[in-house]
Amino acid sequence: MAISGFMKGLSCFHRAKPRTKIHPLHCFARRSREFSISSSSIADDDPVLPVLIVGAGPVGLVLSILLKKLGVRCSVLERRTEFSSHPQAHFINNRSMEIFRKLDGLAEEIEKSQPAVDLWRKFIYCTSLTGRILGSVDHMQPQDFEKVVSPTSVAHFSQYKLNRLLLKRLQSLSLLGNELLIGHECVAIDNTIDEYITVTTSQIKDGKKKEEKIQCRVLVGADGAGSRIRSLVGIELSGEKDLQKLVSIHFRSRDLGDYLLKERPGMLFFIFNTEAIGVLVAHDVKDGEFVLQMPFYPPQQNLDDFNSENCKKLIFKLAGQELSDVEVIDIKPWVMHAEVAEKFVCCNNRVILVGDAAHRFPPAGGFGMNTGIQDAHNLAWKIAAFVKGISPSSILKTYETERRPTALINTELSVKNFRAAMAVPAAIGLNPTVANSVHQVISAGFGTLFPSALQKVMLDGIFSIGRAQTSEFLLNENNPVGSSRLAKLRRIFEEGKSLQLQFPAEDLGFRYLEGALISDGNGASTTVEPPSGRRREYVPSADPGSRLPHTYIRPLSNSPTNKVTLSTHDLIPVDKLEFLLIIGPHNESYQLARAALSAAEEFGVSVKVCIVWPADTNVGTEGKSESPLSPWTNFIDVAEVKKLGTNLVSWWDMCEMSDDGAILVRPDEHIAWRVKSGVDEDTISEMRSIFSAVLSLQ
Ligand SMILES: Cc1cc2nc3c(=O)[nH]c(=O)nc-3n(C[C@H](O)[C@H](O)[C@H](O)COP(=O)(O)OP(=O)(O)OC[C@H]3O[C@@H](n4cnc5c(N)ncnc54)[C@H](O)[C@@H]3O)c2cc1C
Repeated sequence: MAISGFMKGLSCFHRAKPRTKIHPLHCFARRSREFSISSSSIADDDPVLPVLIVGAGPVGLVLSILLKKLGVRCSVLERRTEFSSHPQAHFINNRSMEIFRKLDGLAEEIEKSQPAVDLWRKFIYCTSLTGRILGSVDHMQPQDFEKVVSPTSVAHFSQYKLNRLLLKRLQSLSLLGNELLIGHECVAIDNTIDEYITVTTSQIKDGKKKEEKIQCRVLVGADGAGSRIRSLVGIELSGEKDLQKLVSIHFRSRDLGDYLLKERPGMLFFIFNTEAIGVLVAHDVKDGEFVLQMPFYPPQQNLDDFNSENCKKLIFKLAGQELSDVEVIDIKPWVMHAEVAEKFVCCNNRVILVGDAAHRFPPAGGFGMNTGIQDAHNLAWKIAAFVKGISPSSILKTYETERRPTALINTELSVKNFRAAMAVPAAIGLNPTVANSVHQVISAGFGTLFPSALQKVMLDGIFSIGRAQTSEFLLNENNPVGSSRLAKLRRIFEEGKSLQLQFPAEDLGFRYLEGALISDGNGASTTVEPPSGRRREYVPSADPGSRLPHTYIRPLSNSPTNKVTLSTHDLIPVDKLEFLLIIGPHNESYQLARAALSAAEEFGVSVKVCIVWPADTNVGTEGKSESPLSPWTNFIDVAEVKKLGTNLVSWWDMCEMSDDGAILVRPDEHIAWRVKSGVDEDTISEMRSIFSAVLSLQ
C-alpha cells in the first residue's frame, strides 16, 4: 500500500503551511519551556507534541495504535514514501497475538487471512524441493491449538501484510489530524533542553530538500536495526556482530506453490545440493509467494551476482527443476547480528528505543518483531501514565529495567536456535563455520594476495567441493560415511536438536523481576531460568512480573450483554489506563478492594475489581458484591468456566492463591503485585504504598 493512499483525506498541517520552519503543531516552543516536567499532566492543547515515534515499522505502528487508544496524542515519522512489500517476518508468536486480539479484531483477521496451519507446521530438509527429503519436523503440538493457556494461538503471516492491517487500524484512529508523516526522515535531534526534544526532519518536496523541526516530550526510536536515533544519542550495542550475511530473494511462482501444496507443504525448506544451498520460506503457498535466503559472501560476491536472471537459476537449482512462472520481485541483502543496546532509555527519560532499534537478533525462532511488539505493549501504558500526569518520567526508566533483560534472554535464545540450525548442514559435512572461516581467509588472509576475480573463483571452487558432500554418491546408506551422516541427521531430528519454531516458556512465560512492580517474599523465584534453546512448555504463574495466566470466565451479571465467555485478559481494557484487582468473595478481600479503589483514586488511576466466584456459581450473583464494595461500582463478579474432566485444579488454585489472596494486574496484563493470603490490617496504607511504587512515585 502506498502510504500516500493512507494519507488521503487526512488533514495535513504540513501542506497547509508548507514553508513554516517549525512544525505548526509545535510552533509555541518558547512558551513550552516554562512547562514543568514533573508529574503534572501534558495538556491536550500543549503545543509540544507529547510523543513522537520515528519509524512506521510494525513496532512503531503498534505503539502508535496503543497510545492513541489510551488517548495519548502522538505522531509517527516515516522516511519512506512507499511501504516495503518484502515479506521479512512471518511468525507471530502467541503473546503478540494476544496483544493483537485487543486491536479491533486484528488477531482474528490474521487467523482468517493466514494460510491453513497444515500448510506451515513443518520444516522440511531436502536435497531439492522436488528431490529427496532428508527429514521433516512438525513444530505444532495438540496443545498449541487448544487455546487453554492462551485465548489465541501463534500465526504465520507476512510482515508487509501485517503492516497494512496495522495502518488500517491507525487510519481509523487518526481521523483528527495528520499523524503519520510520510517521507519524513529524522536527521537530527537536540536534547539540550530538559523539558522536550527537538527533532529535525528532512523531506524531499518538489525536488528540493526541506527541513522542519518538531518538539516532543518523548521521542521513541522505532527506526529499525540501523537506528539513527540510537546513534544520535550515542547508545552502543553489545553482543555479536555479523553472524552471517544473506540475500533475501522475494519471488512468486504459482507452479512451485501448487507443487508444494500437493506434495510437501511446509513453512521452511532447508535445501542442500551440489549446486546450491539455501532456505526457502513459504510465505503463502496458495499464492505462490516465497522468499529464498541465500548465504552472501561480499566482496567476492556482489549484488549483481543476484540479479533477476541469476536468482531464477538459483531457484531452479534448489527446486530441482525449471519453473516456467518464476517472477523475482525484489532482492535484499541483510546481515544477521545478535546485539542489544546498552541502554533503552536516555536523555532524562525522554528518548526511548524500541524494537530492532533496541535489539537485533537472528530471526531463528521469530523473536525479532515479536519482542519489539511486546516492547511497545510494555511502554504504552507507562507513556500514558507520564503524559497524563499520573507518574513522573522515571516510570519510563522501568521500561528499560523490564525489557532489556527480556531482550537479552531472547537474543541468547535466538543465537542458540541459530546454532541448532547449523547442526543439520554440519551433520552432512557442510559446516557453515568452516565456510565462514574459508571466506575470512580469502577476504583477509592469504587470499588478498590475489586479484578479486581470482578470489571469487577460489571461493566458488572451495564451496563447490563443500557442496559435493551432499551428492547422492556420498550421502547414501551404502556409503559408510554417508550412512553415518544420515544416522547423525536422524538423531538430530528425533532428539529435537534442529532449529525450533515454538518456545512457549519464553513466549508466554517471560517475567519481569524488577521495574513497575513489587516483588514479594511469597515464594516467587528471584531469577529467570536461562533459555535452553529447546522447546519448553509454558507454566502459568501469578508471580509478580508474570503475564496474568489466562482462563475462561463468565460474568455473573444478568445483563444480556454479559452472556459471553471471556478471557481473564479481557478484564483489562486496551483503551483505558486501568489496573485490575482480582479477589475472592471474602470479607477481608472486599476490604482490600475498597482500599485499592480509594488509593487508586488518590493517585488518579482507575482500578476495576474482579471477584472470582466458584465455578458452579449461578448467574445473578452480581448483587452480592454491590453492598460490600459500596459506594464503588467499578467491579465485576465472574466465575471460572468449568473445565472438562475431573480433579482439575481451579484457576485460583493454579495461581497458588488462598481464599483471601489478591492479584493486582497492570494495564499490560503483567502482575504488579499479589498477596497469596491476607494483607496487613492497614489496607489503605498498604495499597497506597503499592500504587506509589508501581507508578514510580517513590
Ligand atoms: C529474513 C528475516 C526474517 C524474519 N522473520 C521474523 C519472524 O518470523 N518473526 C519475528 O518476530 N521477526 C522476524 N524478523 C525480524 C523482524 O523483521 C524485525 O524484528 C522487525 O522488522 C522489526 O520491526 P521494527 O518496527 O522495530 O523495525 P523496522 O521494521 O526496521 O521498521 C523501522 C522503520 O523505521 C523507518 N526509519 C528508519 N530510519 C528512519 C529515520 N531516520 N526517520 C524516519 N523513519 C526511519 C524505516 O523506513 C522503517 O519503516 C525477521 C527478519 C528477517 C531479516
